[in-house]
Amino acid sequence: MSELKYKRVVLKLSGEALAGEKGFGINPPVIKKIAEEIKDVYNEGIQIAIVVGGGNMWRGEAGAEMGMERSQADYIGMLSTIMNGLALQDNLESLDVPTRLQTSIEMKQIAEPYIRRKAVRHLEKGRIVIFSGGTGNPYFSTDTAAVLRAAEIDADAILMAKNGVDGIYSADPNKNADAIKFDHLTQKDLLEKELNVMDSTASSLSKDNDIPLVVFNLNKSGNIKKVVEGKQIGTVVEGK
Ligand code: UDP
Repeated sequence: MSELKYKRVVLKLSGEALAGEKGFGINPPVIKKIAEEIKDVYNEGIQIAIVVGGGNMWRGEAGAEMGMERSQADYIGMLSTIMNGLALQDNLESLDVPTRLQTSIEMKQIAEPYIRRKAVRHLEKGRIVIFSGGTGNPYFSTDTAAVLRAAEIDADAILMAKNGVDGIYSADPNKNADAIKFDHLTQKDLLEKELNVMDSTASSLSKDNDIPLVVFNLNKSGNIKKVVEGKQIGTVVEGK
């Protein structure tokens, strides 16, 4: 086993990460690959909680733009994160990784309700806990849910997995050839430079609680492991 920088982490997976190239829905080979990567890290003995997004199926904002009432549209978004959570649980368990799925909106036939103390106990017993349903409130994002849960369970870091982008840049690297990649940033930089890694609610919560954040490319095999071992990949955001 290698030396670990973090002992308990929250891994934030966007819905997009599960969709693969089509950008929509759940792509079975893609989610299987992610589950294998997570298992590799799990085998190192690290406690892992996962917050899943839902943007591969639905975004509340898009629903609102089409004329829906925003909160109603956001509830559809939260439900899509639960579908992703079920798919992820299925893939991890097929690899013999013990998991518990918790939802912030009660759905007790299919998952446990979110109970902080229970989640911590599961982690201590070596189960991966998947947090779905976001914060359970409209107008929020699963990035905010990731920071909130990380604070609640006293995680050492939030691992923000990105699709194809290998960290935080001064501008969109796909549109701007002069964009500079940052290796380190402070929480304050994240807010003040308006770097658009997370929405401002998530960034403020992360700054107020000073939880280290590592932004890295999920599409490169072995990257999650490198992050927990403290290898310099992606961008590390820490310190006020
Ligand atoms: N959502 C919400 N409250 C939350 C988390 C999510 O209302 O606490 C809704 C919101 O409509 C959002 C959708 O769920 O658009 C999917 O979540 P998100 O966009 O954060 O997913 P990701 O971009 O990570 O795939």
